[in-house]
Amino acid sequence: MSSTGTSTPAGGLDLSLLKITRNPAPGVLPPSNTLVFGQTPTDHMLTVEWNLGTGFEAPEIKPYGPLSLDPSASVLHYSTTMFEGMKAYKDKNGVARLFRPNKNMERFNDGAARMGFPAVDGEVFTELIKKLVDVDEHWIPTDPGCSLYIRPTMIGTKAGLGVTASTSVLLYVILSPAGPYYASGRKPISLLASTEHTRAFPGGTGNRKFGLNYAGGIVPQTQAAKLGYNQILWLLGERHMLTEVGMMNLFVSFRRPDGTVELVTPPLADLILPGVTRDSVLCLARAHADPTTPFRIAGFPEKLVVSERELYMSDLVAAQANGTLAEIFGTGTAAILLAVERIGYMNSDLKIPTGADGMGPLATALLREIEGRQIGEIESEWSVIV
Ligand SMILES: *Cc1c(COP(=O)(O)O)cnc(C)c1O
Repeated sequence: MSSTGTSTPAGGLDLSLLKITRNPAPGVLPPSNTLVFGQTPTDHMLTVEWNLGTGFEAPEIKPYGPLSLDPSASVLHYSTTMFEGMKAYKDKNGVARLFRPNKNMERFNDGAARMGFPAVDGEVFTELIKKLVDVDEHWIPTDPGCSLYIRPTMIGTKAGLGVTASTSVLLYVILSPAGPYYASGRKPISLLASTEHTRAFPGGTGNRKFGLNYAGGIVPQTQAAKLGYNQILWLLGERHMLTEVGMMNLFVSFRRPDGTVELVTPPLADLILPGVTRDSVLCLARAHADPTTPFRIAGFPEKLVVSERELYMSDLVAAQANGTLAEIFGTGTAAILLAVERIGYMNSDLKIPTGADGMGPLATALLREIEGRQIGEIESEWSVIV
């Protein structure tokens, strides 16, 4: 970081140039039971402009408000937009914490490289996000299961209709308080396995948080909801390979003949979004499965085997029929973990075991462990103090 001048020699993100303009009319955090996901902006946002010639300008924290864009801006025509999703949580001492922000930074930069956007210094960007969270700290709800959702975004702002790499971008971050995912407890969800629509495909960008990956899912999601299903189970190809659940990663567990439980998730490639929650589940499950580590997932005494391998609808149908299907759940920052109780597939419903309280034993134990680490009840290096 440079300590002089108005921009760094390399034009990198510079924390020392941060300018903060306070909102003269700060709002009030609504009661958490009235919060609708992503509908309540906080008082401030962070913005940083970037140009090919000069690099990043001085970062600014300023009152939340509309952006001004040229009508021919690249983002408005060719979907040059990418985002991240992360959260700040307050621990029992009122200290704000982030969860594995380095993973979000890694993913953001992978996306930027694919989109032809500039890379950001992940450590500096994390510090800027911490400053923003700190300025809007009173917007972090403290009720159980609540958090402050953080949405880092980068858009191509270059004016002109040519389909070329954007020579100017806007990096910005907005915040929104998030209530508990389900006000009335964590209900299991139903999925419609779509044999008609595809979310991601080989060679595509489904493994990035690009705006363009989500637009095509809106109508199928609305249709699924009309048929009484919560989300889509995204399949690929003639063999109906399983990929993801709505905007969550997919996990399936099977009970093997030798009594061990196999936890399976589709392998990362260009189809699967590399979820931070997915990675957290895999880390915990692998540590549990490894007899040379002392770590065990609390409340889950059974032996685990962890696999990243392809799964097909025929595997689910067979395991459901012979009683070896144990649990199915989706993972993501918004809900952490949601159990699946039913999958609509080829005009019939597959019933998925969920356990008495609507969530199977592995999902329950993993949820407790991850949530505990997020809110700092379980100390770990994954939790980063703001
Ligand atoms: C964001 C996202 C996920 C979950 O990622 P997390 O980092 O765990 O929040 C999974 N699938 C898709 C398609 C996503 O956009």
